[in-house]
Amino acid sequence: MTKFIFVTGGVVSSLGKGIASASIGKILEAKGLRVSLIKCDPYINVDPGTMNPYQHGEVYVTEDGAETDLDLGHYQRFTNAAIGFENNITTGKIYDTVIKKERKGDYLGKTIQVIPHITDEIKNRIRKVARKKNLDVVIIEIGGTVGDIESLPFLEAIRQFRIEEKPENALSIHVTLVPYIKSADEVKTKPTQHSVGRLREIGIQPDILLCRCQKPLSKTVKEKIALFCNVCQKDVFEAVDVESVYEVPLKFQEQCLGERIAVKLGVKKGNKDLSGWKKKVIERIYYPKKEKEVAMVGKYIGLQDAYKSIYEALIHAGIANNTKIKIKKVDPECIEKYGPDKYLKNTEAVLIPGGFGLRGIEGKIQAAGYARRNNISFLGICLGMQVAVIDFARNCCNLKKANSSEFEPNTPEPVIGLMPGQENIKEKGATMRLGAYRCRVRKNTKAFKAYRSFSFTERHRHRYEFNNRYKKTMEREGLVFSGYNPSRNLVEIIELKNHKWFLGCQFHPEFKSKPEKAHPLFRDFIKYA
Ligand code: GLN
Repeated sequence: MTKFIFVTGGVVSSLGKGIASASIGKILEAKGLRVSLIKCDPYINVDPGTMNPYQHGEVYVTEDGAETDLDLGHYQRFTNAAIGFENNITTGKIYDTVIKKERKGDYLGKTIQVIPHITDEIKNRIRKVARKKNLDVVIIEIGGTVGDIESLPFLEAIRQFRIEEKPENALSIHVTLVPYIKSADEVKTKPTQHSVGRLREIGIQPDILLCRCQKPLSKTVKEKIALFCNVCQKDVFEAVDVESVYEVPLKFQEQCLGERIAVKLGVKKGNKDLSGWKKKVIERIYYPKKEKEVAMVGKYIGLQDAYKSIYEALIHAGIANNTKIKIKKVDPECIEKYGPDKYLKNTEAVLIPGGFGLRGIEGKIQAAGYARRNNISFLGICLGMQVAVIDFARNCCNLKKANSSEFEPNTPEPVIGLMPGQENIKEKGATMRLGAYRCRVRKNTKAFKAYRSFSFTERHRHRYEFNNRYKKTMEREGLVFSGYNPSRNLVEIIELKNHKWFLGCQFHPEFKSKPEKAHPLFRDFIKYA
């Protein structure tokens, strides 16, 4: 019998509902329970694949090729849950299904309405995840903030869900803000009272409150919250600000949140603890032996969430190397104006992330060239690999006009070109090469040294590829094609021989990195830096 935990957020966005949900997953797994997590996003886009990073942050890609919300990345980094297409529900997906069914005549003449048709579809999708994987607990995070018009159908679906299931099979956890007002030197419970009030108006009484706060809450404050929000005092938990998100599960566990959830849901209790996590992750983050600066050359450096998984993968690589990673954010357009020397001179590691479109491209190409010439540890991801190829073609193979046909459709030297099969695709949504594909690597390469394996899969999100016509020319000048996709002979990894560590990959290694198991490419990128 699967149990359900619904996580809602109140007062403001960015409270860390995703991290809270992932952390609850982590502490329940530590109890020996099989968990999965679902993110419900109230926007009408079918998926975030078509959204600008400034609107949405990173698009997280799953093994099965879904373009999803970045919270799914947190779920994967914190837990062992299998995460795929079904774990991200959007209003767009729900309406798409309901409207298609209506057109087919499946509703037999009924008027289609938000209640019950939209809410039924939401509930069906949640139950489908529970049924399929034989899970003990499914955690469902509802995006947005209570009070938003958009999230109402999701909240109504939760209300119905709890009536349809036995009360002990579903739990509602509300993540809320208890702000500290400096001038009054007081923490304030009113926003939480209002937020819970809003939830109760629509028929949801939260069972547990997770109060985001700067400092631990006093007994009196907890009593007050309990009284006004209609919960037991022992169901008021605090989510205190911490330096590293990976400490959140420990903070929850200190307050016995896992035990409380287990009692309320009537699930069996295991006895594993998180001491391994504390030792292998937290202590290494908080007490590093060294420090290393990584220059990140990307268009969206202004938004922390735009390269979320990359920043996390760098933290993991830091853990593996006992090193604190400091990120230096470099705008490629500044490189175009003032040259790479000004920004990359004292850097020992350069990372160029994935991206789309022309803006800043020449700056990125220059950054890759600078790392190549100056023996600076280099990792190019997806577009980052493509710009490294363009630099190499222009400056080492005398192909002065080399470019990607993404940036110059009629370039005479398309060293990067549209992948076969992409030419006639007109729709933008979910039409890239997406998800896990196999990569084989050659012996005696940096790639093999990192992976210690000849064959593995990695996740993709791109339309363009290395143009194999140029392989021989580039090989002659010292570019090593160390990884390839065996079924389509597509280039997956390039590297340089006479360089301490210079590697580009067409896939996104950041999506598979975990705090306890840094991705081998990120690990070696930092190691050689
Ligand atoms: N724009 C490039 C492509 O579509 C790179 C994509 C990426 O970096 N994810 O191939």
